[in-house]
Amino acid sequence: MAMDSPNISPGAPLASTALSGHEVRFGFDNTYARLPDRFYARLDPKPVTTPRLVKVNAELAEKLRLNPDALKSEHGVAVLAGNCVAEGAEPLAQAYAGHQFGSFVPQLGDGRANLLGEVVGRDGVRYDVQLKGSGRTPFSRGGDGRAALGPVLREYIVSEAMAALSVPTTRALAAVTTGERVLRDTALPGAVLTRVAASHLRVGTFQYFAARRDTESLRVLADYTIGRHYPEAAQAKQPYRTLLEGVITRQAKLVAQWMLLGFIHGVMNTDNTSISGETIDYGPCAFLEAYDPAKVFSSIDRGGRYAYSNQPRAAAWNLARLAEALLPVLALEAGSEDGAIELANEALAAFEPQFEAARLAGLRCKLGLFTEHEGDAALAEDLLKRMGDNEADFTLTFRRLCDAAIENKGDACVRTLFADPAAYDGWAAGWRRRMEAEGGDGQARAAAMRKVNPLIIPRNHLVEESLTAASERQDFQPFEALLEAVSRPFEESVGLERYATPARPEELVHATFCGT
Ligand code: AMP
Ligand code: MG
Repeated sequence: MAMDSPNISPGAPLASTALSGHEVRFGFDNTYARLPDRFYARLDPKPVTTPRLVKVNAELAEKLRLNPDALKSEHGVAVLAGNCVAEGAEPLAQAYAGHQFGSFVPQLGDGRANLLGEVVGRDGVRYDVQLKGSGRTPFSRGGDGRAALGPVLREYIVSEAMAALSVPTTRALAAVTTGERVLRDTALPGAVLTRVAASHLRVGTFQYFAARRDTESLRVLADYTIGRHYPEAAQAKQPYRTLLEGVITRQAKLVAQWMLLGFIHGVMNTDNTSISGETIDYGPCAFLEAYDPAKVFSSIDRGGRYAYSNQPRAAAWNLARLAEALLPVLALEAGSEDGAIELANEALAAFEPQFEAARLAGLRCKLGLFTEHEGDAALAEDLLKRMGDNEADFTLTFRRLCDAAIENKGDACVRTLFADPAAYDGWAAGWRRRMEAEGGDGQARAAAMRKVNPLIIPRNHLVEESLTAASERQDFQPFEALLEAVSRPFEESVGLERYATPARPEELVHATFCGT
């Protein structure tokens, strides 16, 4: 397959077709577009036949100082579809490389995405605004540059659920349909997602320049990353080492959060590993139903490389690839190549203890334990083991423990989640002793537990149901309702029981698809 040059038109004039009247104004302030030409290819998104709005995320729009009504206007929808380039946008496709399922690809890049520009939100944080599914780019290789409606809606739902669960994540600002069909196994309706991210810098961005032995670009990229995501590193004695340590810490905490929620990313390639520490690239992702550490949903992950319990190992592996890519700039600080390797290994050694500490702290919160006791890890592992042996629903087990923390009466609802309810009883006795030793008020404990143990996650059968309704019947009501439910994951609301109920055996979803 021929690879196009990543720079088709450096400095090409930017199309601007802004209309008067109800215009969406982004207030773009673009820094990535100021980086050297070799970091990206400038090009406009490719227009689509019949753009139609599916959803605008009004709350996120406000956060980005955008007017949701302007986004919903004809001009707004034209911008969201890529038919019109908003004022101040400097559209580009970013260059990156990546290890995909362990194999290195020296040039991936945005094959179907277009970074419009950056905006500074009300929180003072700079965000990328990117169209995904916006047409072919010089990085498209054999792909059509498009996205199907189903995967766009899955990314919308799951990324918004993750945000509501307080997990660092890219977000969905909008989704539109294109009026065009995309050919996958069958012809599917096309769509464009507007993705908002702290940035789209990936481990693969560093690998891109490392593979080209372009140390100057690596330095520029590392300095840019420090300025954007790790400003404290600029003051450190060894800024690049501090950058690496910072990424490792954020990834350790991120993956611990995934594990605590039963989230399976599904495609933890280095090009899908964000430098800012956000969850990025919702492809064949899914949440565990019955607890099973070996669970894999992705139909493309045949070897189980990214199975639930392999995720910390996969993250550590990806971070080792980042450290490798950074060696040339670490050598500037260490004074030698050997010194750089030593720095890198020291930094990488911190991943596991940081991950374990974050996971254990999270497990204590999930179990309502506010002090630290030596046996806590064993207590938590024992519960997980029993859940695995008894196919207990991951989300509901922890949620129902909130009531059981108040009084024994609450046990009844937890034990029914276990194939052999006695397996729960055997564990609960020890948990009660542990809580009694700690003391404290049961109601307060339950209230704290309800803030970390969600009632509602995007259950796979409900996600599939909403994607199917939208793709096959243009019925967006199930999508709207599910989105609403997962946006308040910790609340108990009348009428939402359906969203808190595990799939019946015949509804179980066994595989999710990448949807590229
Ligand atoms: P992903 O699996 O979505 O992380 O994508 C991996 C790589 O394939 C990235 O470089 C994408 O830009 C590219 N890619 C995925 N889907 C398409 C598509 N339909 N057309 C062109 N490139 C694509
Ligand atoms: Mg990707």
